[in-house]
Amino acid sequence: MPRVAAPTAPVQGVDSEAKLAFVEFLLTSIDVQESARRAVDWLVAHAAVKEVAVLVPEAASNEMLLVAEHGISSGAIMDFALNRDDGSHPLIAALRSPISLFVDSLPSRHRVPLEANAFHAIPLRSEPSETGYGLLLVSGVGPELDAETQWLGRTLGKQVSRLMGRQLLAETRFGQERMLLYSIINAVTDPILLTDTEGKLIIANSHAEKLFAAPEEASEGWRRAVGLNNMLFSAALSTSAVGMVEMARRELLLVDPLEGSDLLFELLSSRAKDERQGTYVVSILRNVTDLARAKEEIEESYRTLRVAQAEVRDERHRLDLIIDSVADPILVTDQEGDIVLMNTPAERLFNAPGIDDETALRRVRANGANLTSFVSNVLTRSGEQRYRGEIQLGDPLTGRPLPVEAVAGTILSEQGELMWVVTILHDLTEALEKARLYEQLKQASVELERKVQEATAELAQQNELLRRQHIALEQASALKSQFLANMSHEFRTPLNAILGYTHMLLNNVTGPVSDPQRKSLSRIDSNARHLLALINDILDITRIEAGRMPLNATTFGVGELFEEVQSELEPIIKRSNLTVSTKVRGAVPSVRSDRQKVKQIVLNLLSNALKFTPAGSVTMTASYDARLRQVAIAVRDTGVGIPEDDQVKVFEDFRQLDSSPARGYGGTGLGLSICRRLAQILGGTIDLQSAQGEGSTFTLRLPAKTRRR
Ligand code: ADP
Repeated sequence: MPRVAAPTAPVQGVDSEAKLAFVEFLLTSIDVQESARRAVDWLVAHAAVKEVAVLVPEAASNEMLLVAEHGISSGAIMDFALNRDDGSHPLIAALRSPISLFVDSLPSRHRVPLEANAFHAIPLRSEPSETGYGLLLVSGVGPELDAETQWLGRTLGKQVSRLMGRQLLAETRFGQERMLLYSIINAVTDPILLTDTEGKLIIANSHAEKLFAAPEEASEGWRRAVGLNNMLFSAALSTSAVGMVEMARRELLLVDPLEGSDLLFELLSSRAKDERQGTYVVSILRNVTDLARAKEEIEESYRTLRVAQAEVRDERHRLDLIIDSVADPILVTDQEGDIVLMNTPAERLFNAPGIDDETALRRVRANGANLTSFVSNVLTRSGEQRYRGEIQLGDPLTGRPLPVEAVAGTILSEQGELMWVVTILHDLTEALEKARLYEQLKQASVELERKVQEATAELAQQNELLRRQHIALEQASALKSQFLANMSHEFRTPLNAILGYTHMLLNNVTGPVSDPQRKSLSRIDSNARHLLALINDILDITRIEAGRMPLNATTFGVGELFEEVQSELEPIIKRSNLTVSTKVRGAVPSVRSDRQKVKQIVLNLLSNALKFTPAGSVTMTASYDARLRQVAIAVRDTGVGIPEDDQVKVFEDFRQLDSSPARGYGGTGLGLSICRRLAQILGGTIDLQSAQGEGSTFTLRLPAKTRRR
């Protein structure tokens, strides 16, 4: 509370009435200027003063103001200016002086409103120890202050002190309230601004200042951001002013001057009307950046959710397609073991749609029970991702047992709890059948192997037997050959004796023989010769077989061999009435071979040709194959020919095509077999081309040079 101190100066002298009146006035006055004017008037009336001036400080500017005066020109009033902080000025010094000062020589640089050179400067205060609130300047009273002026100085000093102190207090209270208000608006986290209707900033809290004001040291970017914010804000306010709404609400996009990022605000502006000052706009900005971001994020997650839902739908569709296109039954069961999804093959087993036959339905229930027990096994074995087992099911319609292999997989939720069991059934009928067949096959194979082993053993036994028989046969053959050779030899000696004696008898060595005797002797001779030929042939064969046919190679011409053979058989040729010719085709080189054996072969072939050709001709042809270095000797006749079936047989031992006792041709049946054996020994071949009734061609092929065997 401002202390109201009544002037305490004693009322003295004749002017006590006037003093009292003055004091009473002061008590009722609350205005410094008014009090000062009254004091000047009183002084002029009661003291011999010339010029009077009262100076008090102005609160806002700190200037000393002239609030009342007497005897001062208006020009001096206008020129006067004094700052309270100007300590060098004698008037400011006077304020702090414990006593009133008499100034009689003022330095010219200091100005005072008085024209007089000498004057009193009386500090206006309640106690002499205080700094004066103002000054009372008086001239014309002389160096000593009179009592009236002193009294007035003291009285006015108390009044000024009282009033100025109150004013200060009032100012302090206003300041406090202002500070409180500032701290309140600063405590609000939203930027708050008070502007005029043009958007010019009057008051802003610290949050608003961050957006709309840049400090001295701010960077260029900061300043630009602030400038932009101010522009955007004014624009927003002017549009709201256009709308003329009392409380406008709109979105305002600003820039964070420090970060440079966008900040979205909701701008709430309202008009405040003040009778004295006009219209203000109070704006509150609410930061909705996070809100907008959150909104965006929510929208984004909603979109993502929609996409995910669509994907899940597609996935489900695909899954259905896959499940339905699988031929094996597939079932999905929940934690309770109830079927939640199955494909058509599974439905046939566990649902039997459209069937109301009681037996079939009972089988369906049995299948369901078997599946449930399998799935419950899977459920109790939580932790295992896959479970494999066999279930015995039955075809609901036919009742045919259906062994299946069941493979189950579990599907877990994100929290790891078991959600579903997917079971795929695979028909084992075929697999079991295959296994059965495989088993049978395996047994058969074992049996076969056993039999093969037995047969092999038997075969080995047989082989052994055969080998032994072969050895025995070889031995027997060797013995036979030996026997035949021996026998032939033994036969030949007496036979030669028979032939010799017969010959002698026929040649009348032992006396003349009659015709019938000669005939008989001739028969003996021809039979003996036949026998000798036979024995020679056998001897040849046994020699060849025993490998005891020696080779005696010489070089000879085929032409000359032909001549020799032909002349040797001349008697037979003559008798046969056949045309026998020889031909050497091209240049045939001399042959190096066993001449005697080649001759024996050609002789044999020619005599056969003569023998088996009733009419026509026999031709012997020699030719040379330079590429194979082979000489070919062909004996061709126009005789009876040899049927195809017999063409192999004629080369066998003792083989005669006409083997009847009444056959028309003589011979032993050994000729061709000996020829072939001899040809082999010489490194050559004999082959035959013939057709029945058309004649035959026997061809001997020999290497031009027989290699040593
Ligand atoms: P043989 O001493 O009986 O003639 P071969 O071994 O020489 O014995 O002949 C065997 C058989 O082949 C003869 O009996 C005959 O039937 C047949 N043969 C051989 N040469 C001729 C030929 N030139 N024409 C027809 N048949 C032949």
